[in-house]
Amino acid sequence: MIKEIQSKKVLTHHPHAFPTNWDLNPYRGCTIGCKYCFAQYSHKYLGLDDFFKDILVKTDVAQCLDLELHQKSWKREQIKIGGITDLYQHAEKRYELLPKIFDVIKKYRNPIFIQTKSNLILRDFEIIKELSKITIVDIATSISSFDERVRKVIEPGASSAVERMEMLARFKGIARKTVVGFMPIIPLLSDTDENLETTFRMTKELGLDHLVTSILFLRGEVKPRFLQTIQARFPEIYSEFLQLYSRSSVDEKYARNLYRKLENLREKHQLFDDYKAVTMTEKHTQLSLF
Ligand code: SF4
Repeated sequence: MIKEIQSKKVLTHHPHAFPTNWDLNPYRGCTIGCKYCFAQYSHKYLGLDDFFKDILVKTDVAQCLDLELHQKSWKREQIKIGGITDLYQHAEKRYELLPKIFDVIKKYRNPIFIQTKSNLILRDFEIIKELSKITIVDIATSISSFDERVRKVIEPGASSAVERMEMLARFKGIARKTVVGFMPIIPLLSDTDENLETTFRMTKELGLDHLVTSILFLRGEVKPRFLQTIQARFPEIYSEFLQLYSRSSVDEKYARNLYRKLENLREKHQLFDDYKAVTMTEKHTQLSLF
């Protein structure tokens, strides 16, 4: 079900969130359909059942954003577009909300952070390129597995990992920073030496700026659903997986071992987990150049 809605306010403040404290979500719900998505249960507060199918479209998002950025109290902080939804999910093809949002961003020269798992972003390549000439644009994608057999189950609506990495590379020299989120790393599925090495090697070879990593965390209602997926689609690892997740975070010994491997790969490829959103000083210095 797709439902168009009007919104009163579209910027949401999340203190201490990564990487910025302000989110803009043009949609609620997300057809990318990641089985580990922590946002999927936010839908019940809207009285909706299926986060992956019941999509709310904020058709007036650009107008609302314009009003909010016009406020005297707004300090031109960096805004993360997408956060509890993927901005380039399937409905964006039809609604084309992003070009309208970018028009408003351009008007106020507001710094932004864009994150997506979809190559549909390339539709707006020229717009983003122009935007990056007048304000700060950081672009990120996150990947979990290069194995398409795994990706098609875990992130069915996303572009393949290779496509996402190559998409991000298109923005090299355009975005202030290009960021790969290797997340979540799913034990027994995306933690193979081959997958770890491919992620680091491609990030380095493509000249992307940062690689941020995170192991799968399973809490609340996501946990039983995710376990069901593992049992149904990857039965060969189910019992071992269950042992690793007797709690919401993965088994400590497993985590220590994985972190050691990641540290070795960071040293080998000289890629560090040091992405930071725009600082106030940087913002003033860089924006004054535009
Ligand atoms: S892309 Fe993000 S918001 Fe969409 S389902 Fe995946 S994790 Fe959730």
